[in-house]
Amino acid sequence: VQGFEGARVAVLGLGRSGLATVRALLAGGATPVCWDDQQQARDRAEAEGFELRDLHRQGAFDDIATLVTSPGIPHLYPQPNPVIRAALQAGVPVDNDIGLFFASLPAQGWDMLDQPPKVVAITGSNGKSTTVALLHHILESVGRDSQMAGNIGRGVLDIDPPGEAGVVVLELSSYQTELARALTPDVAILTNLSPDHLDRHAGLGGYFAAKRRLFAEGGPDRAIIGIDEDEGLFLAGQMSQASSDDRVIRVATGRKLSGPGWQVFARKGFLSEMRKGRQVGAIDLRQMMGLPGAHNHQNACAAYAAARVLGLAPRVIEAALATYPGLPHRSQTVAEVAGVRYVNDSKATNLDSAAKALSAFKNIRWICGGLEKEGGLGALGGQTGSVRKAYVIGREAAGFAMQLDVEAEVCTTMERAVACAVADAEPGDVVLLAPAAASFDQYDNFEQRGDDFISEVHKQLG
Ligand code: ADP
Repeated sequence: VQGFEGARVAVLGLGRSGLATVRALLAGGATPVCWDDQQQARDRAEAEGFELRDLHRQGAFDDIATLVTSPGIPHLYPQPNPVIRAALQAGVPVDNDIGLFFASLPAQGWDMLDQPPKVVAITGSNGKSTTVALLHHILESVGRDSQMAGNIGRGVLDIDPPGEAGVVVLELSSYQTELARALTPDVAILTNLSPDHLDRHAGLGGYFAAKRRLFAEGGPDRAIIGIDEDEGLFLAGQMSQASSDDRVIRVATGRKLSGPGWQVFARKGFLSEMRKGRQVGAIDLRQMMGLPGAHNHQNACAAYAAARVLGLAPRVIEAALATYPGLPHRSQTVAEVAGVRYVNDSKATNLDSAAKALSAFKNIRWICGGLEKEGGLGALGGQTGSVRKAYVIGREAAGFAMQLDVEAEVCTTMERAVACAVADAEPGDVVLLAPAAASFDQYDNFEQRGDDFISEVHKQLG
């Protein structure tokens, strides 16, 4: 990190990205002081020899140049964290590791290379990790130096200096885009937009505004924007100077596109790339085993578009898509026994991702439930046509089950839900974990919930 030589910088939140921030500040000649409300996290920092300071105490910010915070810590809604508020009251700017990363880029000397490295930043409500992993996979398949960072992979301040023509593929949540003071990727992607995290952004408008910061004036050279929702359509319109502009690539899976602009869309399992009204690329996505369902075709289109911007040919991208192995906890087939397929989509924590999972399969035995998202389950209506029966988990399973428009059994635990689904399943059925809810009522995170599903499936199938 550049620009803080000799200055004291406070770091709040000592998870993976917080610790990486402290290390990067030290390497840049700054004097970081750090804090986390969790003793365990403080112990980790102390073990690395970092200087702790209780940022709650009076006057803690008197000598601080900047406060760097972690994405998990609210700074405005539902209410600001007291440490962040104290910093702001003391007139101290607040930033995050993403902002520091972009602010430091000019000093990294990447421009000195013949083929300067590129930063691709990906945001959206769903499909971020999948799109990041897909693009990384495509780049690696042609031997390009690629690193995944941000929400996926390493903290962005932990990456290795990229080599000639290297690419940093960055996953950014709305929490991160909202706070970063600098956001200047070479290529920015918005996958899609649906309601999520509304409490942290005071509604959908605030949530969209947070994501849009990635596309601000002076931001990306190229924007790849999913336009299935009106927000994306609007953003794409706003980014382009003219209808034939190739600064913007519009990605569609649910809407028809026209005009001479650069477009990538998927229809009936086929991807098409159009430029100036001519088709310049086409791929059959139906055989791509790692990418089941129309929602994954949207991710494939976004990753394809980014790979095209980075100079890859359609045939090369097609070959790489065919070998994409998929990510755990996203449409992950974990077993196929007696004609029944078992799919772990534990990452379907919101309504839209669960609805997409439900539309990707037929004859579904649906394991759902957990900590409900704001707004209830209303938006799921109409997407449950392929569900044969729901098996509801979670502390509030009974209340959750009552809101469903399909036959539902209140199971509460994963063990029981899997047992009931296994007992009911017939050849041709898909037992699908797609909770449409957060996991925190019963698990530490969605990964633990998915792992529990996998281990129950394996245990109960013997
Ligand atoms: P994110 O990183 O944005 O949370 P993931 O790739 O981890 O996205 O996927 C999150 C959940 O959303 C998974 O359940 C996945 O199956 C589903 N999903 C993936 N891509 C999309 C998409 N383009 N639209 C809707 N849901 C999606």
